[in-house]
Amino acid sequence: MTYILPPSLDAYIEQHSSKPDEHLQQLDRETHLKVLQPRMLSGAVQGKFLEFISTMIRPKRILEIGTYTGYSGICMAKGLVEGGTITTIDINEELSSMVRRYVDAAGLTEKFDIRTGDATRIIPELSGPFDLVFIDADKRNYSRYYELVIDKVPAGGWILADNVLWSGKVVEEATDKDTTAIRAFNELVQADERVENVLLSVRDGIMIVRKNG
Ligand code: SAH
Ligand code: CA
Repeated sequence: MTYILPPSLDAYIEQHSSKPDEHLQQLDRETHLKVLQPRMLSGAVQGKFLEFISTMIRPKRILEIGTYTGYSGICMAKGLVEGGTITTIDINEELSSMVRRYVDAAGLTEKFDIRTGDATRIIPELSGPFDLVFIDADKRNYSRYYELVIDKVPAGGWILADNVLWSGKVVEEATDKDTTAIRAFNELVQADERVENVLLSVRDGIMIVRKNG
């Protein structure tokens, strides 16, 4: 279960980060027991990171692209201001009842707008502004998602994109479609004068983008 760092350092990082709530631990366990590709779940360290980022921003509205079993969305929702909401999109309709169950258990029912369908179709139907966007769905559409959301983010707003180091493949010889798409996304952000950005080596790499004021 390693992305970039040696497993011993990943373990050390986890041992020195606050533990997730009981409901998140249970969601992690149930995902590993019942759902395909549990490696996609954010997990304890990235989840706490997303919670902290959201708490620092204090967004009124969050957009998440790629809900999976809801772990990252629940973490980010903890930072919403009173009355704030998170819209989260996933194409996999088999997951939505599990997401709903954990959102309810976390006491976040009123804050969640759970959408099922292709994000490339759903995002154009959403009206912004979104103070915080988390891009974490299919890697081949990252650049498209970025272009679809950028005008819905206000000046000073934030976009996070996950897995932008793609287990290190971005600097290797790999020429598969996902790696190529992630490299193209990182180039797009780096060249975009509308934003400033920093690529952090947290877990599988997180690009943090701030829209200029
Ligand atoms: N954010 C989650 C993990 C997301 S995994 C977490 O950190 O816990 C990526 C998800 O993107 C999968 O659940 C997959 O179904 C979804 N996905 C893939 N292609 C999509 C598309 N075109 N539109 C919406 N969701 C998509
Ligand atoms: Ca991810």
